Amino acid sequence: MLSVAREEVKTEVLVVGGGAVGVSVARYFALADRKVILIDSEATPGSVNSSRNSGVIHAGLYYANSPTKEKLCIRGKHLLYNYCREKNIPFQQLGKLVVAQAGEEPLLNRIFERAAANEVPARLLSREEIKIACPDLSCVAALVSPSTGIVDTQSLMQSLVTDFEAAGGLLHCRARVLRIDTSADLVQAELEDGTRVTADIVINSAGLSALSLVPSGVEHGYENFFLKGSYFSYASRVPFKTLVYPLPSQGGLGIHLTLDLAGRARFGPDASAISTLDFAVRPEDGPKFGAAIKQYWPDCNVNKLSPDYAGVRPKLKLAGLVVPDFLFLQSHASGGSKVISLLGMDSPGLTSCLAIAEQVFEMI
Ligand SMILES: Cc1cc2nc3c(=O)[nH]c(=O)nc-3n(C[C@H](O)[C@H](O)[C@H](O)COP(=O)(O)OP(=O)(O)OC[C@H]3O[C@@H](n4cnc5c(N)ncnc54)[C@H](O)[C@@H]3O)c2cc1C
Repeated sequence: MLSVAREEVKTEVLVVGGGAVGVSVARYFALADRKVILIDSEATPGSVNSSRNSGVIHAGLYYANSPTKEKLCIRGKHLLYNYCREKNIPFQQLGKLVVAQAGEEPLLNRIFERAAANEVPARLLSREEIKIACPDLSCVAALVSPSTGIVDTQSLMQSLVTDFEAAGGLLHCRARVLRIDTSADLVQAELEDGTRVTADIVINSAGLSALSLVPSGVEHGYENFFLKGSYFSYASRVPFKTLVYPLPSQGGLGIHLTLDLAGRARFGPDASAISTLDFAVRPEDGPKFGAAIKQYWPDCNVNKLSPDYAGVRPKLKLAGLVVPDFLFLQSHASGGSKVISLLGMDSPGLTSCLAIAEQVFEMI
């Protein structure tokens, strides 16, 4: 751990935010022999959205209007599976079904065609095939995505941090960056305890706070648009061995079934706009979840649903419209040192984390 209380510190690379994305970026630079400091405001890296998600390794099916997400998800999926194998991180490539109800077939077909164009493995199932493979499912058509999987996010985070520190990176937790300033020759970050860190390169990967840390003077017009996503756990086994997703709806991928590596089921996330950060799951949302799940699993026993946890998607709006893609916003200090702010790092940011790190490194 780094001790930086009330000091002036100089480094080559400063990464602000130790979620899956920030740690991946910090690790990449450290492995390239750069002197890197990684700062996170929480006690443990990965304790915000990186541990409040579905833990799904996405195949790259949904991002026709988000070219950066599409590219980084598909690349990130391959990198992540390889990394999990190399480091013995628990994961399972259990595949998923995307299910369509009456009238939704055109959207399912569009997802299938996009997958085919991107060489993402996918296959459409007929109603008869679904009945045989998954008799408990209610739908008129389904798409199988065999390259979708799940990963143990905690083990993933631990492994990334271990790599980072083994490569000489310095991790400083419980330290909040208040602002990033580009008004001098070199970029300077000011911490809550008064410490100033000067760096040639600053990567602002502060997740939900990233927009507020964009250096002042950068004109961008983006506004935060936080979408909370809650999960409900299910108190007994479900009759499915793969993940089950409805078709994507506004703001998210729909209330889907995810399984963890022990086979436990949970459903979520929903998508509700919030103006102040709040991670509480509302028990009164249970019936809404039950109704959504019963569309594709009529036998779901709603009494077995219990509030679990929630994450908050750090989405952006520009001129009132939701920005669908990841955003890499660059700014410079007069001496040439630069800040890259990673904005809108919503799903599939976990899947894409290693590919995002590659991309950021290439931008320098
Ligand atoms: C409900 C939900 C479900 C999702 N499901 C999936 C999924 O199944 N698969 C997938 O690929 N992606 C999924 N995602 C997306 C994924 O979780 C995120 O893209 C990913 O975790 C983003 O990582 P991050 O490092 O950018 O952000 P975070 O994990 O939020 O990390 C940001 C870090 O910055 C730190 N920080 C913030 N402010 C400061 C500051 N001022 N100073 C210092 N540190 C600071 C925080 O402590 C935090 O650790 C989901 C997201 C949500 C919300």
